[in-house]
Amino acid sequence: MKVGLRIDVDTYRGTKYGVPSLCRILSARNINASFFFSVGPDNMGRHLWRLLRPKFLYKMLRTNASSLYGWDILFKGTFWPGPVIGKKTSDIIRSARDAGHEVGFHAWDHHYWQAHLDNMTYSQIYHSLNRGVELLTQILESPPICSAAPGWKCNDAVLSAKSKFPFKYNSDCRGESIFYPVVDGKRLRQPQIPVTLPTYDELIGRNGINNENYNERLISLLSPEKLNVLTVHAEAEGIALHDIFQRFLDLAKERDCSFVPLGALIDEASGIKNGTIAAKEIAGREGWGACQSSDAAKG
Ligand SMILES: [Zn+2]
Repeated sequence: MKVGLRIDVDTYRGTKYGVPSLCRILSARNINASFFFSVGPDNMGRHLWRLLRPKFLYKMLRTNASSLYGWDILFKGTFWPGPVIGKKTSDIIRSARDAGHEVGFHAWDHHYWQAHLDNMTYSQIYHSLNRGVELLTQILESPPICSAAPGWKCNDAVLSAKSKFPFKYNSDCRGESIFYPVVDGKRLRQPQIPVTLPTYDELIGRNGINNENYNERLISLLSPEKLNVLTVHAEAEGIALHDIFQRFLDLAKERDCSFVPLGALIDEASGIKNGTIAAKEIAGREGWGACQSSDAAKG
């Protein structure tokens, strides 16, 4: 059974400490994955604090956010402008590519995108993408080959803007099957590879799931008949959840799972259908996220 492994890197701390640690974990197991980097200012502290509503506070406590993310992430960009991640960590980003991983673009300013996408115009969206892709291209000396929208915040304007970049595919939504998005009646040429599995912070603390039974639960959600795409975070699985994640990889291997970069899933997919995305609530997650519409999933 193939499992597409996607690693989102949202912060300076995640890039600096989480990425090298994940690269070691993966190389010890001969696994290649897809890394999606945020390269602009790290204002994620601002993001976490602006969500201080009862529901989010409960989630912070439920996931023990300070030990999961570290206090420095919680304050990053709150009192002073956050560091431009790509400028400080270019060697780490290159080293992930040099280790054989697929390298994609995640965000210019992860916090800004997540908080403001609803009110961004097409041209603001395009410029935010372009700023990040330019810096990542400079770092890699070639353009990133794929992209993934922060926090599954994606709409038709984002899909149209992304079609102007040389991405081989995008992974911007949750869903069940690889599809070609249709926007304004036109099929875009970049396939969409949806994430099919929940993230750690969506599962933990709900329905009796804790760190002891988390891996078993996640493995029970994998299916040989379906598309399997998992997202982990450099900030979480690369740092505080490092041991749990290693055990997950080993358990999954015992069950005949092999992990691949997302791009490898396209080569295997046959008869990719058209589809659309729609904003929906995702269990365990704040606000809306882009989901493959049920019509598209049925195909
Ligand atoms: Zn992210």
